[in-house]
Amino acid sequence: MDPVAPHPRTWLKSTPAGLYCEPADLFIDPTRKSDRAVITHGHSDHARAGHRAVLATAATLAFMAHRHGEDAGAERQALGYGEALEMNGVTLRLLPAGHILGSAQVVLDYRGSRAVISGDYKRRRDPTCEAFVPERCDVFVTEATFALPVFRHPPDRQEIARLLHSLRLFPERCHVVGVYSLGKCQRVIALLREAGYDETIFLHGALEPCCAIYREQGVALGELAPVAGVPRERLKGQLVLAPPGFDDRWLRRFPEPLTAMASGWMRVRQRAKQWGIELPLVISDHADWDELKQTIAEVAAPEIWVTHGREEALIRQATLDGFRARALSLTGFEEEC
Ligand SMILES: [Zn+2]
Ligand SMILES: [Zn+2]
Repeated sequence: MDPVAPHPRTWLKSTPAGLYCEPADLFIDPTRKSDRAVITHGHSDHARAGHRAVLATAATLAFMAHRHGEDAGAERQALGYGEALEMNGVTLRLLPAGHILGSAQVVLDYRGSRAVISGDYKRRRDPTCEAFVPERCDVFVTEATFALPVFRHPPDRQEIARLLHSLRLFPERCHVVGVYSLGKCQRVIALLREAGYDETIFLHGALEPCCAIYREQGVALGELAPVAGVPRERLKGQLVLAPPGFDDRWLRRFPEPLTAMASGWMRVRQRAKQWGIELPLVISDHADWDELKQTIAEVAAPEIWVTHGREEALIRQATLDGFRARALSLTGFEEEC
């Protein structure tokens, strides 16, 4: 940072409505209705309804239009990755965050200092979205969803192989896999296709709209079909994807249902048990402990602002590693994915 450049804390502020860039008069993922919002990605706790002007990637705008309809923003502007936008002395760019399709980091440059707000992110390869691009900056805002050393996600190919192995082992049982409707669902499908699974994958109705948007945006998902109305016999040894939290009555319509779930939380045995999951699959769209540390090292920001999860452990680690780190007390974000 230029020695006379204003520190980002003087122009990027934590407010009750979320992070606010004062000179650009712009909120990032605001939790309240705002005049101008830049949205990092389509998950509901980041992409809320009712803002006036919304700036985001085209995919994020498509997810918002699907969820919020008319309320997705009176004025919507799509910005491609890497395109620069000038706003009252602030240069804004979006860079891929690798979290879900369309997810972006917000890069803000103002008078010689740079802040990067990464939103939610992960570092491993995902066939359904562009990979995270590390950008050097003066302040890096990071999530901390899985910021504990116990969270080290296994390779996703290994988890998908466990699911396919179970299908071979129990050819009579219908495998019902819990997946979040936006991101995890399409990633699991794409990973299954990469592993050579080319049968029809059956979907709970709630998963269909987001899959359709992924396809419109050019992501191949293979043969999908709604599960509603499919004869019980046909579902023996088949894969059904559904939003998490399926109830017993719904499950009973499937032949010998075997419940699985794809989530970073499946690393916690207790949760899998609590949720009645027979086959927990540790597949996460958030950075694990090692990815968080790797990212902080790569962006080389002298100062880290931590939000959205287990701030304390990551702040401690970053401080030990020689960074200045503090918690951003932003509220309104869910513990998702
Ligand atoms: Zn998210
Ligand atoms: Zn989030």
